[in-house]
Amino acid sequence: MNAECPRCTEADQAVSVPLALADTTHPLGEPERSLLLPPPPPAPAVVGRSKPAVALYAVAAVITVLGLKSMADGLSGPQDADLAYRLGAILGPLFFSVPLALAGMVVQLTTRRRRVRAAEAGAEARRAVWERCHRVWQAAWLCRRCRTAFFPKGSVTPDFPASPAIAVAQVPSWVTATAERALGVPEPAAVRPVPSGDRSS
Ligand SMILES: [Zn+2]
Repeated sequence: MNAECPRCTEADQAVSVPLALADTTHPLGEPERSLLLPPPPPAPAVVGRSKPAVALYAVAAVITVLGLKSMADGLSGPQDADLAYRLGAILGPLFFSVPLALAGMVVQLTTRRRRVRAAEAGAEARRAVWERCHRVWQAAWLCRRCRTAFFPKGSVTPDFPASPAIAVAQVPSWVTATAERALGVPEPAAVRPVPSGDRSS
């Protein structure tokens, strides 16, 4: 395929951007090369933490720290205190912190499937956006005479109008904006029903 540069109206120095990057006989200089690189692949799925579980762990930790502090105060204090009273002071905080930590663990385990699904849906959406950007990037051309980029008529979609000459520095933002305009924003992933017992977050 030949494409005419919108600036010099010649086709002899025009080459598609993927070919220009791969051409070792006419290597691109920096920063031109890095500006014309394909869009970076999307970040992989990262499973988020359960916020209620984190809050339960934090409260359990605070109670444990306060309990240890009062235990230290009790040990350094007068030694004639009642044994039952001193045991209560030591074990009391554990009656709260241990169940809280266990509850945090239960919340974390029961919400894991839901958090994994949310992370996968997020990664899927990022991948859909990236695929559109990559498709637009593949349609980009470079005129080696003018050192400008352009998108020939019909290059992104069959009815895509020819673009004006685009400064190489503008190519990354042009690719993102054109992907949204010409190919649309991906539909958000359908919300799947959450089975009972998996509703808290
Ligand atoms: Zn040109």
